[in-house]
Amino acid sequence: MNAPHATRKRHLIAAGLALALGACATAPADRGHPAAGTSPEPAPASTGDPASPDSRVDAAPTQDSAVVAPVRPDAPPRNAIVPHGYPEPATPAGLPMARADPSTMVAHFINVGQGDAILLEFSCGAVLIDTGGERTSRASGSDLLRSYLEEFFGRRHDLSRTLDLVVLSHPHSDHTDGASVLVDAEPAFDVLNLLDDGEPGSHDSGRKGQLALQRYVAENEGGYVGLSEADVKTVSGVSNDVIDPVDCRPSGGVDPDIVALWGRVDLDVGWANDRNNDSVVVRVDFGKASFLFVGDMEHQGLSAMLESYEADQRIFDVDVLKVGHHGSMNATTPDFVRATSPKIAVIQAGDTAFINEPHNAYVYGHPNRAAIRMLLADDGGVSMARDPIQVRVGIKGKGLGADAPPPQFTRIRLDKAIYSNSWDGNIAVVANADGSLQVETEY
Ligand SMILES: [Zn+2]
Repeated sequence: MNAPHATRKRHLIAAGLALALGACATAPADRGHPAAGTSPEPAPASTGDPASPDSRVDAAPTQDSAVVAPVRPDAPPRNAIVPHGYPEPATPAGLPMARADPSTMVAHFINVGQGDAILLEFSCGAVLIDTGGERTSRASGSDLLRSYLEEFFGRRHDLSRTLDLVVLSHPHSDHTDGASVLVDAEPAFDVLNLLDDGEPGSHDSGRKGQLALQRYVAENEGGYVGLSEADVKTVSGVSNDVIDPVDCRPSGGVDPDIVALWGRVDLDVGWANDRNNDSVVVRVDFGKASFLFVGDMEHQGLSAMLESYEADQRIFDVDVLKVGHHGSMNATTPDFVRATSPKIAVIQAGDTAFINEPHNAYVYGHPNRAAIRMLLADDGGVSMARDPIQVRVGIKGKGLGADAPPPQFTRIRLDKAIYSNSWDGNIAVVANADGSLQVETEY
């Protein structure tokens, strides 16, 4: 299994370096939280109003289109996204046995508390989407990620501690904190390629982890893509050897298709200044099975993305949906649920039990009942069944301030295939190339 990696790595170096240079030259202006009295800088080389969609396209980073290429150049073009003045939302509140035979992949939704970390296991390789997790006295996402990866690579010796691709959806700490696990591991993990949404802003909570992984991959001459949504020119999404480095056909397996559909949004309007809506969105097809990973996208970003694919939205139609923003009240929309029509939905959120600390599922009231209700819609909602389970879901997150009322929760009964680390612990979705799916939990 090492030889294909080595071969692939060599031929990725050139592409990776080109993209790294492109990304450095086109790093977005910091859209974090400008100090009082300063205004956000327009993107480099902007010659017009940065809020105008046309000038925004001109100002967008220009990666080599031959490197980040449409999957189907003849596919209809995506519309440029329009800077709607959406109203600001209310304050949002043991591994399964080796199953990755040549015709099987396993998506491991790792229980890292409040945060995202998804390991895609193939017969000849592995991909990690986000490295996050909770950082409270009851859960260390980094420790949970470390022990899961150690156990995984202990079982999959053949993969030689190699991640063919790491995707960081966006620079928030609940998605990047565990980058240190990859960077500091002894013995080292080999990360061949990195896909993220570019240069983190100076106030982004996950800046440190994202920069550390960018440096780590550059030092090891890996491939890199820092993706803006403007790089995605057609409704077929974009891909290349960095975004889709896995091909198990030489060892008798399947060639999964990995395609990016969205990335950093360079618009200066409220919803686009929310880093969650900059999330890199990735679709993975494995034979007849399909997955969509949307990072922390929220309703405004999802609506804008869907609208920009108006010419053909079938690329969103998948079997397994990783739900946006930890299942918050604004984590999805009825239109997005209809477009994806998933058989299975997975929400990465932590334990909702009381804890008097910030940044966890209790405080935010995640997952929220409103998102669950949307996912249960008769029209396009989650279609597979699960063993019925009573679960605790949020109605309202905790407000800001010391005297804010506590969050509110209720219990609901689920008999559709909505899974969450919050009530299922670790979750493994086993997908077969014939399209059949099984789910294992609490292992
Ligand atoms: Zn998050």
